[in-house]
Amino acid sequence: MSQPPSTAVAWRRDLHVHPEVGFTEFRTASRVAGRLADLGWDVRTGADALDPGARLGVPDDDVLEAAFAAAAGDGSWAGDDRHLADMRGGRTAVVATLDSGRPGRHVALRADTDALPILESADAGHPPVAGGFRSTRDGVMHACGHDGHVGMAVELAERLTADPPDGRVTILLQPAEEGGRGAAAMVPAGVVDDVDVLLAAHLGIGLASRTVAAAVDGLLANTKLRAVFHGRAAHAAMAPHEGRSALLAAAAATLAVHTMPPFPGHETRVAVGALHGGTVSNVVPDRATMLLETRADAGGVNEEIARRVRVALEGAAATYGGTVTVEAIGTVTTATGDPEASAAVAEAARATGLEVVVPTADLGVASDDATAFMRRVQSRGGVATYLAIGSDLAGPHHTPGFDVDESVLGPGVDLLERAVRALTA
Ligand SMILES: [Zn+2]
Ligand SMILES: [Zn+2]
Repeated sequence: MSQPPSTAVAWRRDLHVHPEVGFTEFRTASRVAGRLADLGWDVRTGADALDPGARLGVPDDDVLEAAFAAAAGDGSWAGDDRHLADMRGGRTAVVATLDSGRPGRHVALRADTDALPILESADAGHPPVAGGFRSTRDGVMHACGHDGHVGMAVELAERLTADPPDGRVTILLQPAEEGGRGAAAMVPAGVVDDVDVLLAAHLGIGLASRTVAAAVDGLLANTKLRAVFHGRAAHAAMAPHEGRSALLAAAAATLAVHTMPPFPGHETRVAVGALHGGTVSNVVPDRATMLLETRADAGGVNEEIARRVRVALEGAAATYGGTVTVEAIGTVTTATGDPEASAAVAEAARATGLEVVVPTADLGVASDDATAFMRRVQSRGGVATYLAIGSDLAGPHHTPGFDVDESVLGPGVDLLERAVRALTA
């Protein structure tokens, strides 16, 4: 007889089948809100959990409405009706608190909820295919492990409910981590203003199963931009001199961005990830759009790179007689963990039988907007750490063959439970 899956595994498989991209996590967020409310936690959603005006990179209304309609319908995509209406329009954050009523500290755990716009592998050997829990939404998949984060958070909530620790525990279910968009909208809603200790955990990121990094401080700052180049349309053969090609400007800008000099002593990245322009072969394109990003291991360096990128975009636009509008659609800062919080995590990991490792430099190319929560908590006198729970991966993060090792979820909850109980006391 095989054992039924644990709460963490059951939830993560269900979410893997039903992935939702940033700010459309209606099913995911409403179901978790419902479960935690049923457990007796105080649940805040909608504008109480996130400032709608502070969101960056919000999908278009038709995308939001289509996703909402799926969650408002029947069948396996249905969300929890009690919490859905509050989330309409992409207000998909959930803040749930368990208050023991006894003295103690307020410990918060961040769990991100969003999936990625990636078509999941259909290979027979891909674990979700073999296990019967491949994504059923074509072109969207949990390719970063956030399904596992939510699964662990729900199981942790069940365990804490059964035996509440001193003080208070809050679980922050954050939308739109990918792209660095969700945390920055939750912070202004005040959701971590009275938090004493903040923990943000991520599965995988280069660490093997049964290992834990109690502090990952090499997270990169990043800025994500959308640039729209404007030119003037003209007949490409009869009046090319009257045209101003937005496409040529964008192409030149792409090369300029990718030939920025490195900053000695710093990890930096620039990337143009998408470029669209023009309509047909015989018209000078009057519009081109570009999605690009910059990253660096220091906030000031990232800001300087982003500034130079904007100059390059404007220069290329001017060269071809056009203009460009540049909009920030995501931003992530750096943060450094506090020894008190990371020591508690390391202790909890050892007690769980996991090996505590020091993260290596190659973890440093990642970014996570949990740093916005960390900085807010630290600025108000609290402590924080970003920890990595190791997981052997079926394929790299953000690729069609990605999957986490489910056997690490149970020990992951053990670790988080121990850390929360130690830190609330
Ligand atoms: Zn990711
Ligand atoms: Zn992630």
